[in-house]
Amino acid sequence: MQGNRSRDTAPELAVRRLVHAMGMRYLVNTRPVAHLRRTADLVFRGPRVAVFIDGCYWHGCPNHFRQPIANADYWRDKIARNRARDAETDELLRREGWTVLRFWSHEPPPTVAQAVRAVIDRSEL
Ligand SMILES: [Zn+2]
Repeated sequence: MQGNRSRDTAPELAVRRLVHAMGMRYLVNTRPVAHLRRTADLVFRGPRVAVFIDGCYWHGCPNHFRQPIANADYWRDKIARNRARDAETDELLRREGWTVLRFWSHEPPPTVAQAVRAVIDRSEL
């Protein structure tokens, strides 16, 4: 179902708190588009903005993913599949008219929250 997208991680919670404190309202761990079996971390239905906060390991962050020595092929394939799925999710949502914002879980939550706000503000003009 959800693959490796874990829910309510610490970075995700921190971003949610900040975005909420800025006065923005959103849905959590929801499908932006009902018929697409893809769940975003924060969903802004009105402006159609979907936010993903990707775990550094599972999504293959260039700074933090380290190839394990044991079962190297397995992990390489697994992370590659996750990344392909992420790209496919972005494409599917964009085709439905959504703006997709993707961040790494290592990015400072205030930076992420500001970036989200910039996009939401622009979409409300
Ligand atoms: Zn990272």
